[in-house]
Amino acid sequence: MKMSIELFNHLVRYAEKDLPRESCGLLGGNGGDILSVIPLKNEAGSNRQFFVKEENVQAAFFRLNEIGHDLIAIYHSHPTSNPVPSQADIHFHPDQSVKMAILSLKDKPQLKIFQIAGSRYFEIPYIIMD
Ligand SMILES: [Zn+2]
Repeated sequence: MKMSIELFNHLVRYAEKDLPRESCGLLGGNGGDILSVIPLKNEAGSNRQFFVKEENVQAAFFRLNEIGHDLIAIYHSHPTSNPVPSQADIHFHPDQSVKMAILSLKDKPQLKIFQIAGSRYFEIPYIIMD
């Protein structure tokens, strides 16, 4: 998997704009290429969790479809903690065929991508390209 540094920087900017709340949204692309970031409004207004209205999720799916990208991952930020899935993150992850991406803003912004399998998770390696 890979993504461009430009896209990574977009993701970080969206997440910083949402501080102190968690930021969330969708990552789209084709095959192993992450090509789009679609931010979603966090209705929970929390720095510990996120919740998105169904109609906003539908609109984001529609947008991905319009630009010809598949849904690759659902992302959210961890404003003050490491990029590691919490038990709640795993429990509420809606679809295990979709990956989970977590952007930590604790220190230097760091994005990790995970495959969720039951109650376990596996990190998926990817590269950020200049
Ligand atoms: Zn989380």
